[in-house]
Amino acid sequence: MKNIIIFGAPGSGKGTYSEEIVTRYNMGHISTGDVLRAEMKNGTELGRIARQYIDNGQLIPDDLMIDILAKVYDEQEGGHSGVIFDGFPRTIAQAEALKQMLARRGHTMGMMIELDVDEETLMARLLRRAEIEGRADDNEETIKKRFAVYHQQTEPLAKWFEQEGIRHAFTWKGSKEQMLQEIFEKIEKEN
Ligand code: AMP
Repeated sequence: MKNIIIFGAPGSGKGTYSEEIVTRYNMGHISTGDVLRAEMKNGTELGRIARQYIDNGQLIPDDLMIDILAKVYDEQEGGHSGVIFDGFPRTIAQAEALKQMLARRGHTMGMMIELDVDEETLMARLLRRAEIEGRADDNEETIKKRFAVYHQQTEPLAKWFEQEGIRHAFTWKGSKEQMLQEIFEKIEKEN
């Protein structure tokens, strides 16, 4: 399986669709958000630093994030076919670094899957998730900051992936099943 980068705004379903893909194709899964939340929960130095950014809706600085990603990637056991990157890259610097990091290991980015969801749906989902999971950054004020950061720093990356020739965008039309089916078809066509 090719590696997959799953891309989209907060609440677009990156985690949900990643899990479906991971199960179906026996892939590894790296969620940088989950990695950082685990560090915070364990009270590590990295977790302490990360919290200052996450609770404020800001991105962790690129240098730090790139080091973390390379470390987690190298720790992945090899018993799977390809890796899905969920929540990384979020800036052009991270994308360039990921491309180089993979090239040094003889690997490639594979394909990028973009989840396009309207902002009203995103906000409703995140507020619902706040009630279920209780994430500190899922409150209306921080969500708005995360949307702004997404538009400024992450969205321009879509064009970068387009230029790499690996961007595949899927628009939310109200049905998870339909979205999944379109994504699975594309993955199978690409592999
Ligand atoms: P997520 O669970 O992917 O929504 O990530 C939650 C938060 O973790 C983000 O709002 C950022 O503060 C931080 N984060 C996760 N991934 C990255 C990344 N690739 N670059 C910078 N910050 C990140």
